[in-house]
Amino acid sequence: MSKGKLVVVGGDAAGMSAASKVRREQPDREIVVFERGNHTSYAACGMPYFIAGQVSDSDQLIARKPAVFREKQNIDVRTRHEVINIDVDSKKVEVRNIKEDSTFWESYDELLIATGASPIRPDFEGIDSDGIFGLSTLQTGIDVFKYIEKHSPKKAVIVGGGYIGIEMAEALLDLDMEVTLFDMAPQVMTTMDKDMADLIAEYMRESGVNLFLNEKLDSFEAKNGTVTSVLTDQREVEAELVILGMGVKPNAALTDGTPIETGVKGAIKVDKKLQTSVPGIWAAGDCAESYHLIKKEKTWIALGTVANKHGLVAGINLSGGDLEFPGVCGTAITKFKDLEISRTGLSEKELEESGIKYKTAMIESRTRSGYYPGSDKINVKLIAEENNGKILGGQIVGFAGSAKRIDTIVTAITAGMTAQNIVDLDLSYAPPFSPVWDPVQTAARRLV
Ligand code: FAD
Repeated sequence: MSKGKLVVVGGDAAGMSAASKVRREQPDREIVVFERGNHTSYAACGMPYFIAGQVSDSDQLIARKPAVFREKQNIDVRTRHEVINIDVDSKKVEVRNIKEDSTFWESYDELLIATGASPIRPDFEGIDSDGIFGLSTLQTGIDVFKYIEKHSPKKAVIVGGGYIGIEMAEALLDLDMEVTLFDMAPQVMTTMDKDMADLIAEYMRESGVNLFLNEKLDSFEAKNGTVTSVLTDQREVEAELVILGMGVKPNAALTDGTPIETGVKGAIKVDKKLQTSVPGIWAAGDCAESYHLIKKEKTWIALGTVANKHGLVAGINLSGGDLEFPGVCGTAITKFKDLEISRTGLSEKELEESGIKYKTAMIESRTRSGYYPGSDKINVKLIAEENNGKILGGQIVGFAGSAKRIDTIVTAITAGMTAQNIVDLDLSYAPPFSPVWDPVQTAARRLV
């Protein structure tokens, strides 16, 4: 049942999950992985904690090194090799050996594109100055770490208040920097509703972040090629280190000039089995589209959770299986210092765009019984369809023990449950874990 030689482009979450699954199912199949960086199977998600010094060594973020893939799994991983072209007619990829600065063509019978996403880096004056970083691969995290070690910056500016911006604000505060964060939106975390995001902004300000919303980046000033300040439409702020957290875009350039189609936000179009529009060519992870379980349409969500699942499903199908990736709800979780943040499903803004009529409840409760040591605030927002009470979305902002409660809401959405169904759930309770009514149920009660 082997379909011949498999070539994988990209050696992180999606690519190596798929390659490993194929190897488990097809011990004799030839598998070649091209990775343009130095590392494979790394946890990009851990980079803010490595930069902050909470993770002592970047190696701890690597789940499996290229040599282990080669020796233990017989997967021919070639790092510092960038795929620069795909010829779908002759079934070959053109590869640049970065170390030797040479190129060659490699044949494939099946191809998996797992090239991830890259930080958006708009063409602002001065953006290429030293000291300005976007985070994507492990190497980018190591570069930031080394820059801080060498230059000991004291003033940092973060552009963008999404989860990477927020996590980096925490990391740089931990390193005793003065941290300024700009966002052009009127709120941080634009995937959440403003009422919930305002709670995050308030806590960030209380924790010492100079937070400026509704401010557009204008340019960067540099001296001798190194960034010295950031200019917005409203002010100039000194900067010895800049982190760009302005969102990401799919790495889909390899499809240019090929019949491989792209779709939402330029991500590679795939069917539910993760095959592209060209049979025998598959795509998985941040470079590929997903299906939104509530909107019932194609979407693009760049998250490690999705990339790992995509990789597994692609691996199963590449090795003769028959599995569909059902889709995503847009679930995400992060934290800023002690404040936990999570969201799933549709926000009010998305619902207004989709025209679905909805009702919301936003409650403040406690993470544990009020009298139990460590009990703290939790805010839960629940959104349900107006006429039938079906849960459409949820957002949580609160202290220890808050954010993972979002998983109850994701489960409810996936199962098509109503607010009443959540109220009826036999959820667990003891004082160290929850009030007797779990805060998610308290929010649900307001919707019935
Ligand atoms: P990537 O991890 O981007 O891997 C793609 C690989 O392909 C890269 O190694 C790249 O070098 C290589 N490549 C690209 N083009 C080529 C080419 N032409 N030839 C050869 N190789 C190529 N997600 C979460 O779910 N939770 C989190 O908490 C979280 N935190 C994050 C924090 C940070 C700072 C960052 C940057 C990301 C975070 N993510 C998080 C997102 C998560 O890391 C990504 O969704 C995930 O890594 C995507 O996996 P992937 O395999 O699709 O792509």
